[in-house]
Amino acid sequence: MGISRRNFIKGSCLTAGAVALTGKQSEAGVDSPEMRTKGLQTSTTVCPYCAVGCGMIVHTKNGKIVNIEGDTEHPINQGSLCSKGSALFQVANNERRLDKVQYRAPGSDKWEEKSWDWAMQRMAKLMKETRDRNFVTEEEINGTTYTVNRNDGMAMLGAAALDNEECYLLGKFARAMGVGYLEHQARI
Ligand code: SF4
Repeated sequence: MGISRRNFIKGSCLTAGAVALTGKQSEAGVDSPEMRTKGLQTSTTVCPYCAVGCGMIVHTKNGKIVNIEGDTEHPINQGSLCSKGSALFQVANNERRLDKVQYRAPGSDKWEEKSWDWAMQRMAKLMKETRDRNFVTEEEINGTTYTVNRNDGMAMLGAAALDNEECYLLGKFARAMGVGYLEHQARI
């Protein structure tokens, strides 16, 4: 059955009036947040993308994320999210996401799956070798020899996803390794 423009507007006005009087929307009404998340488990988290640290609400069903949105009670973002944060849902639900270590040996044309333990140990070994090979203990400037204890073979770059504490730890670690070329993405 067709519906005329006049009847449509009349119906809309009646519905709006009913909502105003009862404070409720009918079950067949608009897609309200309450209806979208009904029966789902709710937890809060912080966006991992940048150091703004926007608060988020994550809805799950049977252990699977089905919705992520800005947390209106979070003091940083008060419910808003940038385009990147709004698309965070795709990070968790993405068949192209790599969740295992992929390693391609020098000269090889094949990727191999490795464990995280293997990857961490290999990175630590290579970093130690690089540091030892490039460590400079002294430098002569204008005829005077100075102790420098500097690692000229490595650089470190912090990412914007790091918070204050992580930046602090990264800075400590870099200096313990003798790294002088230490920068942060947010500054360059
Ligand atoms: S990436 Fe966007 S949503 Fe995420 S913390 Fe930064 S500003 Fe907030």
